Amino acid sequence: MPIVVDQYQRPLHDLRLSVTDRCNFRCVYCMPKEVYGSRFHFLPKHDLLTFDELTRAVWLFAQLGVKKIRITGGEPLLRRDLDVLIHQISEVEGIEEIAMTTNGSGLDTQRAKTLQQAGLRRVTVSLDALTDKIFKAINDVGVPVSRILSAIDAAIAAGLHPIKVNMVLKRDVNDQQIIPMARHFRHTGVTLRFIEYMDVGNTNGWRMDDVVPASEILATLQQEWALEPVAPTHPGEVARRYRYQDGGGEIGIIASVTQPFCQACSRIRVSPEGQIYTCLFCSKGFDLRRLLREDSLGDEQVMQALKSLWAARDDQYSLNRSKATGSGPKVEMSHIGG
Ligand code: SF4
Repeated sequence: MPIVVDQYQRPLHDLRLSVTDRCNFRCVYCMPKEVYGSRFHFLPKHDLLTFDELTRAVWLFAQLGVKKIRITGGEPLLRRDLDVLIHQISEVEGIEEIAMTTNGSGLDTQRAKTLQQAGLRRVTVSLDALTDKIFKAINDVGVPVSRILSAIDAAIAAGLHPIKVNMVLKRDVNDQQIIPMARHFRHTGVTLRFIEYMDVGNTNGWRMDDVVPASEILATLQQEWALEPVAPTHPGEVARRYRYQDGGGEIGIIASVTQPFCQACSRIRVSPEGQIYTCLFCSKGFDLRRLLREDSLGDEQVMQALKSLWAARDDQYSLNRSKATGSGPKVEMSHIGG
């Protein structure tokens, strides 16, 4: 019996913690250089939730049913001593899994091992192309593919397996890389997930014409390999899963635009400065930091506030996506992670 459900009877299961708004990449669909240039003001350290505040937040959410933590950013590996935070969170009763989404550029063998020993169980690495020309054009900071492939190997060696690789597809940018990427990760045990380009935030100049729909991604793959659907392991799983009939492994397609999955969305997000967002496309957050720093408030009172927030939740942005909903202010993905 879930502890709390929202307006659509969706339980609270996944907490995504963005531990920094900084990133060392400038991916054109997430953190374009024109906006996040040298004059951009990132959050000062004192505005960030401390490790103790983050751990208390995890404990409070665990009382409300959260079982899975995903560490995100910005680029989470830019947050110093991240292994200390992961160790603290791993000791919170009720938390079954800690995962992390990273661009991989800071993940070497030693770092992967340290994070695994601290309690990290899985990583998702972002990689949008196999050719340096396209990948460098997307990350816009000249980081080569080889660096990310080494990070994936380091994660596998550290036992942070099964690894998932996320590839955001944008038409006429990297859609020609669908087959080369699929071919590269077949028979490796790594699950490649194709992500439809989303209208997150207000800075990436999103257009529907730039979206490569899930149906087209699947059709492209099926021209090369026979694929069969795989049943979801739990409600709220974001990717539609398929396995290669020849035993080549699995792929996933995350189709927020053309095949929305809001019906079972059990995710909540906390930004680096402690704003709670009940949907990736929210325009406004709920100030958790103020409650955490309010000496007169005990855990019970803060928990009641979180319970009311979730109980009142009625987000279904992707199901209701339209020109009207798309034009309003939305929090940036680089601020709260995917
Ligand atoms: S659009 Fe919002 S409600 Fe729908 S799946 Fe994404 S985060 Fe959940």
